Amino acid sequence: MWHQVLSVGIVQAVAQISPVTQSVRVAELDEPAPASQEPLRLVDRPMPEPTRDEVLIEVRACGVCRTDLQLVEGDLELHSHPIVPGHQIVGEVIAAGAASDWSIGSRVGVTWLAGACGRCAFCRSGRENLCHDARFTGWDRDGGFAEAVVADGRFVAPVPDGVGDVDVAPLLCGGVIGHRALRATGLTAGGRLGLYGFGASATIVLQLALHQGMDVHVATRSTSEQERARALGAQSVGTYDESPPQPLDAAITFAPVGSVVIDALRAVDRGGTVVVNAIHLDGIPAFDYGLLWHERSIKSVANVTRRDAAELLELAERIPLVTHHQQYPLDDANRALADLSSGQVRGAAVLVPGRDGIRENATRRR
Ligand SMILES: [Zn+2]
Ligand SMILES: [Zn+2]
Repeated sequence: MWHQVLSVGIVQAVAQISPVTQSVRVAELDEPAPASQEPLRLVDRPMPEPTRDEVLIEVRACGVCRTDLQLVEGDLELHSHPIVPGHQIVGEVIAAGAASDWSIGSRVGVTWLAGACGRCAFCRSGRENLCHDARFTGWDRDGGFAEAVVADGRFVAPVPDGVGDVDVAPLLCGGVIGHRALRATGLTAGGRLGLYGFGASATIVLQLALHQGMDVHVATRSTSEQERARALGAQSVGTYDESPPQPLDAAITFAPVGSVVIDALRAVDRGGTVVVNAIHLDGIPAFDYGLLWHERSIKSVANVTRRDAAELLELAERIPLVTHHQQYPLDDANRALADLSSGQVRGAAVLVPGRDGIRENATRRR
């Protein structure tokens, strides 16, 4: 008994005074290159320590997003290097800074928004996604292609018990922004929604919209994708230039093609909104003002807020949202990116690091 108490005391004392001696394996990028050239380097770094508001998270799953691929291949300018990509992280808090409210063992999700100033007009009006000083996970600070990651605890979201690590990780980018886009349409139950393009994000939005009682029309060139949309519950399907059976109240475009925005605009009724859910667009072709007349509008969505993430995670459990994914060990991060680049991933690519023992020495640090 005494022996046991003494041992525990010593372990805690050692953990508090000695620097963490453990290492953490990460996949870092120093120099962008085509994914086929394996630009990510697997290295062991000293275990990072969370300060004040930060939390140290043991990564259970991290989705691989097209934005990660753009960063790795040099299509997105590096903000710092080496950098660890990955912004769809699900994991467990294994250490927390003194000012953090998170307790050890909490299951959390980390999204693209790593931080914002909290003082500007955007931040103060619930639009931290537009903050000029917003920081992004896996771009401005190290992300989740790692066994463990440090995040600002004020910007991580609780993950409900009812959803699995690997199931929820791919929702944390495309799913969250899809939810934001759906909210931006202003539609409610009974509304007629069009989805233009039918990839992973649109697949999630279809499930969200049906759950909210909307009628959904899916437009995509691919007949197999049209069939998949029907099987998931879309009321009607067609190609981009085919008119839906009835005019739409709103549409969301996912295809990174400007002409699709016009196709969607042509399909929406008076007063309807087209929300563009694409980071890049190859220019919107000139169109007749008659398409915009009668109070139709076009708007974009950019980044995400904490509210978006919290709401989506809650819906993921309640609906529940279904995702399809292909798992890769952390050491195969380059292969996951190469597969994504060559279109060989079925569903979403998810890195699953997993290593025993990270948690054993973890303790609340001050
Ligand atoms: Zn701000
Ligand atoms: Zn992303």
